[in-house]
Amino acid sequence: MPAALRRLWSTGVAGNPVSLRRQIELCNQVGLFGAAATVPYQFFYFFYDFALYRGVFLANLIFIAAYLLVLLINRRGWYNTARNLLLVNASCQLFVVTFFISAGAGVHLFYFTLAAILVFLFQHLHVLLYSAIMTAFGSLYVAAHFLFPQGSVAAPVPSPWIDIMYAGSVAGVLTLSGVFLYLFRKNIDQAESELTINNRYLETLCSTDPLTGLANRRGLDETLEREWARLSRHPAPLSVIMCDVDHFKLFNDRYGHDYGDRCLQQIATTLKDRVSRPSDLVARYGGEEFALVLPGTGEEGARYLGEKLREAVRELAVPNADVGTGAYITISVGVTSIDHFRSDEAACLLKRADKALYRAKESGRNQVVFLPYNSPRSSGNGGS
Ligand code: GH3
Ligand code: MG
Ligand code: MG
Repeated sequence: MPAALRRLWSTGVAGNPVSLRRQIELCNQVGLFGAAATVPYQFFYFFYDFALYRGVFLANLIFIAAYLLVLLINRRGWYNTARNLLLVNASCQLFVVTFFISAGAGVHLFYFTLAAILVFLFQHLHVLLYSAIMTAFGSLYVAAHFLFPQGSVAAPVPSPWIDIMYAGSVAGVLTLSGVFLYLFRKNIDQAESELTINNRYLETLCSTDPLTGLANRRGLDETLEREWARLSRHPAPLSVIMCDVDHFKLFNDRYGHDYGDRCLQQIATTLKDRVSRPSDLVARYGGEEFALVLPGTGEEGARYLGEKLREAVRELAVPNADVGTGAYITISVGVTSIDHFRSDEAACLLKRADKALYRAKESGRNQVVFLPYNSPRSSGNGGS
């Protein structure tokens, strides 16, 4: 579509909400089409017998001016007025032109296209108003068809031109419907793909922790539920690791909250870099606690990874001077593993890893404790 034409029908669109923009565009497009489609008829009237067709020719000049006025009114921001003018102008033109040249030229067939387009011109079209306008269009068509037969009109178009004009009107109706359906389809496709992209972005935003960029608690819960459900169908080990930064309150108090945030970001990156499988998830569980979900990893692998994470954080060598001279930031790690489905809740796995983490804290911090999964339904706590 030439850019100039697109600019023309975008008159008055800017600054409006998306749904109204589409309506203004359509209103301008019909206005432009109405003006352009009248021009070939004008040539015929002018060159064939201007004396006979002077009336319809002059009336059409006014209708063309009114179509172009629609664009100017939209430019002013008065969309409702522009739309009403468009509908009244088009209806009058079809009636007046048929009055002059007879229904045989098929000009009044445009009522059908107008009726189809009008639903898109209104934002919230009440069913009563909709029925009223449809009835008005239908009545105008029937009236024009039966009131103005060939031979009883002011300036009838002679054969064979009458047939050519009828064919031209049918082609015009088809073009108008086809072009607008195509443009609407394109608009809908574009709106749909924008919506999908925005939804995906919002979904990611909802399950991402803004400080570290890791999954947040919501993302963790979703993954855990999904893996738990998978376990019920395909028996395979599933492990969960919980990590908590040791004496982080002391760190924050000494170095400040901003520095604390930076430290959490560093730890997050370290944890993320140490997991290798795409199915593994690293999440920020809350505050200075992190959780990992490891599908397909059993006890041995999870213990090994827990140890690797603990070492990696220690190797960052971030000083935590208030814990003791030469002390560094460390994490305590709780690990649990399950290898067959139990009819518990996914959250029980997280609780078990948390219990293991608690044991690691109790035993002096900066260490890894493993507890095998123990169903809350069975007695006993299990051991490391
Ligand atoms: P422990 O070894 O027993 O885990 O001791 P702790 O001091 O780490 O534990 P505690 O739960 O008493 O303190 C956690 C601290 O983590 C409290 C808070 O200052 C800090 N913290 C939690 N969330 C954030 C955060 O988003 N940014 C920063 N900078 N600090 C946080
Ligand atoms: Mg904590
Ligand atoms: Mg802590």
